Amino acid sequence: MSYDKVDVPESGQKITVEAEGEEGLHVPEDPIIPIIHGDGIGQDVGPAAQKVLETAAEATGREVNWMRLYAGESAREKYDENLPDETVEAIREHRVAIKGPLTTPVGAGFRSLNVALRQTLDLYANVRPTYYLDGVPSPMKAPEEMDMVTFRENTEDVYAGIEWEAGTDEAEQVREFVEEEMGFDETMHEGPIGLGLKPISEKGSKRLVREAIDYAIENDRDKVTLVHKGNIMKFTEGQFGEWGMEVAEEEYPDEEVFAAPDSLWEEQDEVDIPEDAVMVEERLADAMLQWMQLRTDEFDVLAMPNLNGDYLSDAAGAQIGGLGIAPGANFGDNRCLAEPVHGSAPKRAGQDMANPTALILSGRLMFEYLGWDDTGELIRDAVEETISSGTVTYDLARQREDAEKVGTSEYADAICENIEKLS
Ligand code: NAP
Repeated sequence: MSYDKVDVPESGQKITVEAEGEEGLHVPEDPIIPIIHGDGIGQDVGPAAQKVLETAAEATGREVNWMRLYAGESAREKYDENLPDETVEAIREHRVAIKGPLTTPVGAGFRSLNVALRQTLDLYANVRPTYYLDGVPSPMKAPEEMDMVTFRENTEDVYAGIEWEAGTDEAEQVREFVEEEMGFDETMHEGPIGLGLKPISEKGSKRLVREAIDYAIENDRDKVTLVHKGNIMKFTEGQFGEWGMEVAEEEYPDEEVFAAPDSLWEEQDEVDIPEDAVMVEERLADAMLQWMQLRTDEFDVLAMPNLNGDYLSDAAGAQIGGLGIAPGANFGDNRCLAEPVHGSAPKRAGQDMANPTALILSGRLMFEYLGWDDTGELIRDAVEETISSGTVTYDLARQREDAEKVGTSEYADAICENIEKLS
């Protein structure tokens, strides 16, 4: 494809699919990787992460050829629109990309650019590993007990954007249909009312749960917990749980995956699980939020619908030091778009103060997806070494009296020095 306002790198090769319709990428040692720095603090953390990631790649004998793309504020300046087609197409064409945060403009008519990107590219699993790094201040007594990976469904649920504004003809039409045709004539209050739909499909639920179980098997994890609110929303959240358990029961041999019976209501301590099998269980979302704090070490891999996943992964991020640390990535079939959990934090923007760790560790996830596990390990070790030696950005410094507060770029330089030392 030819690009209008994007500079295509002169060297480097495209990542390609080995065989259409099958899992597996062909990854050259010098790939072209699209990058969006992002809005707000994206202008600070984007270049900092880029530098750390390319240093780590070089230290492990590889070369990243960045292809800078634009979305949000930077796209409005260049293209006069928020999400240009060529940005989406470049990510589609190159298969693997990384992005900083994008601000969701406030006001009618604007959908989240992040949600739009995930839906357009069918990046159906938002994956957030939550693990503790030595030296990071945490409100928990034993933050190192947290070593969890959340799989959040990314394309449906109340985030699908099927909603009608109070006072519009459309909202009234839907109300009429629900009251008169569907028989809920005493359910809704009189007067203006906003309405939305919560689609949860068999396809969306099953492919997400499959990803989580496959991940657990490949990474020697013990348990996958399906987190939902099926006691109340029976035909959406409850159905997610049922479809998820069906995947566990029907698609894997018993010795590999054990679908725990009645796990919603009974403790599973006494259940006889085949040795080495991944246990798949269900938990209700509200209770899960307390167990995550009180029984942290019992949880391993979590799979859940979109809204639960949004809340729960931020809360999990807080337990290991907050949003400045928490990485993530969106996966589809043979696609990955890495992005941190945090947003554009406008009040911290352009001041060279934001913490780039979350974006850097999102890059680690992306490299691991490429099969560059050694590069990923090096990044983790260098970040941990930097933080534990007391060089940190403002967000961690305010919780640690013994630390030296540095800016975004100085912190990134310190990580690069540690990469050189450790490699
Ligand atoms: P936010 O941008 O994540 O920021 C909330 C607060 O978290 C910040 O004020 C800051 O706390 C802390 N924080 C976040 N990132 C940090 C970092 N890298 N280093 C240090 N501290 C960090 O959430 P928000 O203010 O609710 O959202 C702002 C905009 O971002 C909204 O337009 C939202 O829609 C968008 N957003 C985008 C994404 C995405 O691109 N995927 C995700 C979430 C939100 P202190 O003020 O205490 O320093």
